[in-house]
Amino acid sequence: MSHTHENKMTALVEIYGSDVFNDSVMRQSLPKDVYQSLRKTIEEQVPLDPKVADVVASVMKDWAISKGATHFTHWFQPMTGITAEKHDAFISPTADGRVVMEFSGKELIKGEPDASSFPSGGLRATFEARGYTAWDCTSPAFVKDGSLYIPTAFASYTGEALDKKTPLLRSMDAMNRQALRVLRILGNKTTQRVTTTVGPEQEYFIIDKKLFDQREDLILTGRTLFGAKPPKGQEMEDHYFGHIKDRIAAFMSDLDTELWKLGVSAKTKHNEVAPAQHELALIFSTTNIATDHNQLTMETMKKIALRHGLVCLLHEKPFAGINGSGKHNNWSMATVEGQNLLEPGKTPHENIQFLLFLSAIIKAVDDYADLLRVSCASPGNDHRLGANEAPPAIISIFLGEQLTDILDQIEAGGATKSKSGGIMNLGTNSLPSLPKDTTDRNRTSPFAFTGNKFEFRMVGSMQSIAQANFTLNTIVAESLCQFADRLEKSKNVPKEISAIIFETIKDHKRVIYNGNNYSEEWVKEAKKRGLPNIHSAVEAFAAICAEKNLALMEKHGVLSRIEMEARCQIQYEIYSKTINIEGQTMVEMSKRQILPAVIGYKTDLASSIDSILAVGGNAEIEKELFNKISESLISFSSNLAKLEKAIDTAASLHGDTKAQAISYRDGVFKKMGELRKDADTLETMVGAEYWPMPTYSELLFNV
Ligand code: ADP
Ligand code: MG
Repeated sequence: MSHTHENKMTALVEIYGSDVFNDSVMRQSLPKDVYQSLRKTIEEQVPLDPKVADVVASVMKDWAISKGATHFTHWFQPMTGITAEKHDAFISPTADGRVVMEFSGKELIKGEPDASSFPSGGLRATFEARGYTAWDCTSPAFVKDGSLYIPTAFASYTGEALDKKTPLLRSMDAMNRQALRVLRILGNKTTQRVTTTVGPEQEYFIIDKKLFDQREDLILTGRTLFGAKPPKGQEMEDHYFGHIKDRIAAFMSDLDTELWKLGVSAKTKHNEVAPAQHELALIFSTTNIATDHNQLTMETMKKIALRHGLVCLLHEKPFAGINGSGKHNNWSMATVEGQNLLEPGKTPHENIQFLLFLSAIIKAVDDYADLLRVSCASPGNDHRLGANEAPPAIISIFLGEQLTDILDQIEAGGATKSKSGGIMNLGTNSLPSLPKDTTDRNRTSPFAFTGNKFEFRMVGSMQSIAQANFTLNTIVAESLCQFADRLEKSKNVPKEISAIIFETIKDHKRVIYNGNNYSEEWVKEAKKRGLPNIHSAVEAFAAICAEKNLALMEKHGVLSRIEMEARCQIQYEIYSKTINIEGQTMVEMSKRQILPAVIGYKTDLASSIDSILAVGGNAEIEKELFNKISESLISFSSNLAKLEKAIDTAASLHGDTKAQAISYRDGVFKKMGELRKDADTLETMVGAEYWPMPTYSELLFNV
């Protein structure tokens, strides 16, 4: 190893987590009893002693100041899907006109941001603006941009959750309670906690900032509302895993470094399927930390891109006709000792614990497919789910050959063998023989078993992964609860376990599908099986308030009825606001950019025709083009008027959030599509120097 290389490696190890108040810093800097008391809170959810908080705050402040911090902020995740922060300096004035740096346990534990300007779905009237943030000590604090960031949960004055973190933490408790009950029955008497683990893979686009700045649609909505298909798209399949260009590589390298400093385990990076599209995967951690770290990843991507004269687009569908971006939420369950409960082992047919947990998941996904669907429902994700690129809107599970075979055996009377993957020989001794996985990959399934975890692939690239995960945790906790209820009462546990697994397969095998999820055939087959196919976000939102789902969330203490109803309202509101902004942006770009451009070109074309005719020339071709453009312009202008009218109609329905969202979808969104068609046709006919914004070719192939 060369010297410089070695230095770099040392540097990496040293910078990793260097801005994080992590366990190792805490152990070194906190008094032993304080450290142990805090660990108890983190690991076993023992309530925090206020005296402990004072000591932790003081030590945390000194550490943060040594890292250059002057401020602290409670960092929280309101229902907007992005994070929020308000910074306070550590300073406290003294009588003699100086300041000292202070930070108390009370300030660490509790914050009081004004809650009135965050979505609350009616939970909070403006006269009750008070909101509270509460320290989440299970996710480590960190220093960024001169402030100490303290991860917190956010609640209303009356104690209702106004954020994405609170239900996530509650769902982790619910999962823990039920999983421990089942493990105890299976003979595990020692494990103190079961957590869910998550490894998020984040897709994103990178484009040039100079071009971005010329597109009002990208600036205001995060996606292109106009844009004709470029001559080259992704058909050559030359971008996926392709060579990473220097400018992108420099951005990625900076991004890795920034994330590593924050203790975010950026691991895998590569080019994605679409031009200008890339992916970054983190190493998995507990659900809570993974969620915080995914938020940090998204924020850092945007920030670092700007440093390189680039813009990171996290929207689910920045470009029509080109693959959109999603998030793969790899999810599993593990004991604190690190045993992965979804590890099948070499002979899964004999692994009762694995089969029981697997059954719980199969049952959960079938029973609560609607809740999983709504956990990924957003205006942006509507462009992906159900289109021929992302998982369909139908929820199903891919298990692969080995597990499906075992379940078939069980259903037929009992499993006696596990198919193995075997060895693959590549036909020349110069290449090693490779052990084969027990199953091929299935890239089309929304919920795929990938060896020792499930990969939930429906989450949108811009969405917080919190809802997907609190939903997964809670629905699986419910299956486990039902199993535990039966097993705790049973006189013959092994027999009851077999019965549970057998019945689960029989009752829920309809949700298992190993074929091509993008095919027409599956849509028909799923319908026959009675599986829901919920096409759009607006339809999906209703599931939040379905009685069975309210009862579920209430039973496990994850969200109360009031909190669920508020969330439903918020979803409708966010949908309407998003489509309203998109529609208004289209109107403005049409009137102020596209119309003038087309008229300018037409006028010049008309003068050309006059000049040609004046010298006795033949202007047939010019006239033909003129007429074609006129035709499209008439249609464009009429669709523009219709869009404006649709916006007015939808906006007038503000008393009924659901009816309004439906109006935005069926009226405004539909008219937007029609207007776009005309604009894109015009783009292909109007001279390049006349067109008022960068084209798809420029945006996608210019970095
Ligand atoms: P691929 O999806 O390409 O097969 P990997 O095997 O690298 O990719 O895994 C993808 C993601 O799954 C990574 O973020 C990884 O950390 C995560 N992962 C691996 N094991 C687990 C687990 N037990 N629980 C949750 N996530 C996991
Ligand atoms: Mg993956």
